[in-house]
Amino acid sequence: MAVRLLVPTALQRYTANQDEIQVSASTVDDALAQLAERHPDVRKHLFNDEGQLRQYVNIYVGSEDMRSLQGTQTSLKDGDEVTIVPSIAGGLDDGLPPLNKDEMLRYSRHIIMPELGVEGQQKLKAAKVLCIGAGGLGSPLAMYLAAAGVGTIGIVDFDVVDVTNLQRQIIHGQEDIGRPKMESAKETLKSINPFCNVIGFEEALSSENALEILKDFDIVIDGTDNFPTRYLVNDACVLLGKPNVYGSIFRFEGQASVFWAEKGPCYRCLYPEPPPPGMVPSCAEGGVLGILPGNIGVIQATEAVKLILGIGEPLIGRLLLYNALRMQYRELKLRKDPSCPICGPNPTITELIDYQEFCGIPQAAAAEAAKQEDGLEITVTELNDRFNRGERPVVIDVREPYEAEIAVIPNTRLIPMNEVPNHLGELPRDQEIILQCRSGKRSMQVLEYLQSQGFTKLKNLKGGILAWSEEIDPSVSQY
Ligand SMILES: [Zn+2]
Repeated sequence: MAVRLLVPTALQRYTANQDEIQVSASTVDDALAQLAERHPDVRKHLFNDEGQLRQYVNIYVGSEDMRSLQGTQTSLKDGDEVTIVPSIAGGLDDGLPPLNKDEMLRYSRHIIMPELGVEGQQKLKAAKVLCIGAGGLGSPLAMYLAAAGVGTIGIVDFDVVDVTNLQRQIIHGQEDIGRPKMESAKETLKSINPFCNVIGFEEALSSENALEILKDFDIVIDGTDNFPTRYLVNDACVLLGKPNVYGSIFRFEGQASVFWAEKGPCYRCLYPEPPPPGMVPSCAEGGVLGILPGNIGVIQATEAVKLILGIGEPLIGRLLLYNALRMQYRELKLRKDPSCPICGPNPTITELIDYQEFCGIPQAAAAEAAKQEDGLEITVTELNDRFNRGERPVVIDVREPYEAEIAVIPNTRLIPMNEVPNHLGELPRDQEIILQCRSGKRSMQVLEYLQSQGFTKLKNLKGGILAWSEEIDPSVSQY
């Protein structure tokens, strides 16, 4: 059978610069053997010492991955095109950066593994991985990637280290409180591995800068905790053809997957639309077990390393669900959505959009501003002045009992948000009711609910107990 073998750039120096070789072969095996016979220098780049095809080389017959056919035994017919595809971090051992003596020693426990070897370690050194966020997920994953010898790690974060971060964001320490997370993360990574080149981007990822920041990296790891950035990272990765290693965490549960539109579904195939703002609480609102991001972040780091090395089965097309309380992992199959607006055959999104708007956030901000103008809010100073004048307005604290154990504002009554509907009869309709929670968000939802039940004299305490602690009484604990 007359078939054409298409040679990748990295191998062309061994084929006298030919990018295409005509052979007459009946199987893939046969075609590769003829290539190696004609150009003996190619052999060691394609096959290991046992004569097996190297794991980071993949072969396509037409547009089909041979692994989905009969592997190297796949039969060929006249006119077939056989493409040699090296793995993503530059591929092959061609042009890979050399390791010095110190690096050989440092990575010796990697190098002695046949699946890695010197070549694998060189691929890690050549790899460029971008971590979006140096928070809960970004901490463990960036630390392990640096330790493992990933040559270039980019970090995007514009946040500042806060004491409430330290329960899980182990890349930062006590002395980093008040410092930019990006700086603190950079310092930790350099102290773990001075051979690692860390590039910091101390800015918020946006539609304006995302393509520019992502374009030089091989793999993007999403460690964000908000929907606009998650959709932005997904779309930028699809547009640039890059793998997006996804992870998310909440309380005791986590998720992980690898979204790579060229090989499987993307995040939008899984979740075409974000939940309405306020529906899914963030870690700051809902809490998270401090250890949980360690588990999910390390899964993300593992997937990144596998992609770099081209070994194992990536988490493409699979959603891993982890439940720490049950200590259970479950796996769901993900399919590519043929009507996906960005990775489907007829995309409606062909460039980055306004993700705040897509996630309904300006509307939420506008609605909030409107409420303020409507006089639905009262500040902590106003409330304190009224207390000081001896007034005792009805103030309902809608937080959970365990939150009230941490701190309370005096002269308030606790009715947890979910119980409010059972206590409507006890609430005065002819008197003003002030609603209070931790930050003012939940109490505003309760306010809207009470409005729908016909209550008219309602006020929301702006900033909640956090504002009270900051502006009125610092002895009230923040959490
Ligand atoms: Zn998609």
